Amino acid sequence: MGESVAISLAVKRAVRYDIIQSILRHYECPPSCQSHCCSKGQIHMFEDELKVLSSLDPARAGKICNDATSPSLYLMQAPCSFLNDTGRCHVYERRPTVCGLYPFKVNTSGSTIGLQPCPVGFLIIRDFASWVIDTLSKSDISSGERSRLIGEWQKNVESYELELSEFHSKPVLLEMQIPYEDLEMLSMFLASRKLPAEN
Ligand code: SF4
Ligand code: SF4
Repeated sequence: MGESVAISLAVKRAVRYDIIQSILRHYECPPSCQSHCCSKGQIHMFEDELKVLSSLDPARAGKICNDATSPSLYLMQAPCSFLNDTGRCHVYERRPTVCGLYPFKVNTSGSTIGLQPCPVGFLIIRDFASWVIDTLSKSDISSGERSRLIGEWQKNVESYELELSEFHSKPVLLEMQIPYEDLEMLSMFLASRKLPAEN
C-alpha cells in the first residue's frame, strides 16, 4: 500500500496534476454532455485508489477489476458505478487521478499531455490556441511567418471543432498534444481573464 501511494503521488507530480486543476477550474461541463466521460469511458486507477474507493463504498467498488493489459492498474468498466442518478460523482473529492485529469489524458511521450476534444476539452483547446496566437502576435518573428503560424493555429482549432462535432459518436478522437512546459503559462493566461462566475 505504501509503495502504491508513492506511485500515485509521483504520477500526480509528474503530470502537473495541480496545474491541471487550476486550468480545469475555469470550465464547467454542460449538462447536455450527460457525464459522457464517466458513463462511457474506461477508468484506470492505481491500487491505492482502488483501496480508497473500496473503503468508501465496497459495493460500488466491486465492479473494479484487474486490468489484463497492465498488471499494476485496475479498471472500472463503463458506466462507472460511482456515477449517481443526478450525474454527479459519488466520490468526487477522492476520485482517481485519471478522473481529476480528464479531458487531459496521460500518454507515453513524457513531454506532452493529450487533450480530448470533448465539450470542455475543445474550449481548452480553443483557449490554448488563443494563448499561442497572442504570444505569436507579440513575438518579433517576420510578419509573413507570423501570419503563416497564426493561420495554422486557426486551422488547428477548426479541425478540433470537427472532432468535437463527432465526440459522442466516434470511438477514437484526435487529441491535441500540449507540452507539459506550456501548462503553467496556459493556467496564468486563463487566470488573467475573468472566471465564468465573474462574467
Ligand atoms: S469532461 Fe468532457 S466528456 Fe466529461 S462531462 Fe465534461 S464535457 Fe463531458
Ligand atoms: S469515479 Fe467519479 S469522476 Fe471517476 S468516472 Fe466514476 S463517477 Fe466519474
